[in-house]
Amino acid sequence: MAPTRVPAVEGWFTTGNDGAAPALLGSRCEGCGTFAFPAEASYCRNPDCTSTSFETVELSRRGRIWSYTDARYQPPPPYRAADPYVPFCLVAVELAAEKLVVMGQVVAGVTVDELTVGDEVELVVDTLYTEDGCDYLVWKWRPLGATAPGQEA
Ligand SMILES: [Zn+2]
Repeated sequence: MAPTRVPAVEGWFTTGNDGAAPALLGSRCEGCGTFAFPAEASYCRNPDCTSTSFETVELSRRGRIWSYTDARYQPPPPYRAADPYVPFCLVAVELAAEKLVVMGQVVAGVTVDELTVGDEVELVVDTLYTEDGCDYLVWKWRPLGATAPGQEA
């Protein structure tokens, strides 16, 4: 039986389990249109806006690398790491439409030597860890041109 696919952090992204492309779930202020990720529920990040109404929206699936590093230490949640810990790359991605900067892991097999600020990446959903028959999922960033997870030769 295939493992059940569940998000490692609830409500932060869609998993693509329904066949649709996965996406980060952010909020859009109904007063001024400011986007936020993770979704905002109480106050607007725009200091000139007093709105407290937000709608949940799917954010851009593509963006460009704003900064990157490799994580040689085990990062804090929600970046729950594989056991034993395997270093991976972390990128800060500026989303194409919203211009928000969102952190995330880079798909396995990509090293910092292959990353450049300004490179275009797209969102994928990948297994972060497997426990009790469940695959716990997280979003990752895949440089365009790199091999998608699960499609390695
Ligand atoms: Zn606002």
